Amino acid sequence: MLAGVPRIPTPVNEPNRAYLPGSPERAELKARLAAMASETADIPLVIGGCDIRTGRVERAVMPHDHRHVLGEWHQADAQHVQQAIAAAAQAHREWASWPLEDRAAVFLRAAELLTGPWRATVNAATMLGQSKTVFQAEIDSASELIDFWRFNPYYAQEIYADQPLSTHGAWNQLEYRPLEGFVYAVTPFNFTSIAGNLPTAPALMGNTVVWKPAASAVLSAYYLLRLLEAAGLPPGVINFVPGDPVQVSAILLDSPDLAGVHFTGGTTVFQGIWKKVGETIARYKNYPRLVGETGGKDFIVAHVSADVQELAVAIARGGFEYQGQKCSAASRVYVPRSLWPEVRDRVVAMMREMRMGDVRDFRTFVGAVIDRKAFAKIGGYVEHARQHASIVQGGGMRDEEGYFIEPTLIETDDPGYRSMCEEIFGPVVSVYAYPDGKWDDTLRLVDATSPYALTGSVFSRDRAAIRQATAALRHAAGNFYINDKPTGAVVGQQPFGGARGSGTNDKAGSRINLLRWVSARTIKETFAPPRDYKYGYMVEE
Ligand code: NAD
Repeated sequence: MLAGVPRIPTPVNEPNRAYLPGSPERAELKARLAAMASETADIPLVIGGCDIRTGRVERAVMPHDHRHVLGEWHQADAQHVQQAIAAAAQAHREWASWPLEDRAAVFLRAAELLTGPWRATVNAATMLGQSKTVFQAEIDSASELIDFWRFNPYYAQEIYADQPLSTHGAWNQLEYRPLEGFVYAVTPFNFTSIAGNLPTAPALMGNTVVWKPAASAVLSAYYLLRLLEAAGLPPGVINFVPGDPVQVSAILLDSPDLAGVHFTGGTTVFQGIWKKVGETIARYKNYPRLVGETGGKDFIVAHVSADVQELAVAIARGGFEYQGQKCSAASRVYVPRSLWPEVRDRVVAMMREMRMGDVRDFRTFVGAVIDRKAFAKIGGYVEHARQHASIVQGGGMRDEEGYFIEPTLIETDDPGYRSMCEEIFGPVVSVYAYPDGKWDDTLRLVDATSPYALTGSVFSRDRAAIRQATAALRHAAGNFYINDKPTGAVVGQQPFGGARGSGTNDKAGSRINLLRWVSARTIKETFAPPRDYKYGYMVEE
């Protein structure tokens, strides 16, 4: 350890690159896309720093060209999951004793590798494997993940610096211990940055991790693991076990050493994990920390004073970027009837311009949805709306080559219609045009319609209406936007997470989240302990 008090560099947000025609980053990314598409990656488990090939393989394909195989990944069996628990336990002894600055240096180095030499690789894997456009990949797998890896060490240092009061006679200290046991990180398909953050945030705080990535995003997850190794992450700190989610989870959640779960994904899956942990509670050595960010049914509510063009752009971008597969995507919209015809026409005009197709064509705005299951589920909502609501624009679907669903705008006169209430997780926006005089009722409706409370926006140019919406929707969204779309949170600027059915709201990329991965020990040292058990008042007068 150095004799000095180290200071983590003050983080700044990574700027998004523009990928304009003729730019060097565009040429580099195009070359990486072509090279990656011509390979079939062989993706092992990585446990205790060793590659393990189980021979039971699944294919990673391009959602926009689903016959194109990008890689084959080996699936973990029960014995591998047990090995991962053992490897995490072994690595814990050493890793948990490292000072923060050494652990932080690994992730700060990972951030720098991702800004430069690894950027094109991780972006290309996210574009090909998860069907993100270049811009959607850049803001996620490059900029956001770089931000997580730069800001989290800074926040960790702030946590460590938070110390109790001491007197002259006694020195009080808080030691922010890593948890005892391993953390299970379960990551979703839709954000490579979340896949990178969920295992590394607990690891930064001194924990060791077993990481199960989503089956539909194994390619980008694998490249992240290799990047972390290149940054100097010691073997066994993060163990990579793609596999059947039910089988893998059953073993991990059954282990007495489970210290925490860091989850992002669907609400019912997280509820299942919570239930299983509840059933097993008496077997664990500690109460496992359960951190889960889950589903959303995110709203835009417009006041009659809203700017029509700003509102239309927010619906188009907030609803359809990344095919609506963002937990924060705008998916239910409330517009006053007097504004609706103009808003509708502007949104429809934008939707007609949106190019759908292969994301390697940089003119594409909308890629494919992630897989056949998602295609069928989203299609079910579109078909239902054909019968029971009105499809204003879109509704087309084709899956011969890729899983393509056109951006779709549904209008309904029933604010309780299923597409206004349930998470669809696709390029589908539902609109209810409310009577102009019913602003107060509409705010109550927005608050009560869905069990989720992740993101939401109000559009208005009237400050009193903004105040009113901000108060009425206090618990309806963990990330609330005024005259902005409900997507696009930036690390360090809009800490992200929702309450109610949307999760435990532990705000990824903030101190709030990192605090969940430590267990504080209070240490009191008395410099001159009393030498007599009696107190002064006990002396007879
Ligand atoms: P998902 O729930 O299907 O999968 C998430 C992870 O859980 C994957 O690793 C998956 O393999 C695993 N999993 C699936 N079934 C499981 C089971 N029975 N037991 C244990 N693990 C299981 O979600 P997804 O399709 O990858 O992602 C979409 C969902 O994630 C949406 O509901 C979205 O709203 C949510 N999401 C939320 C946030 C947020 O910050 N609130 C961010 C991104 C995504």
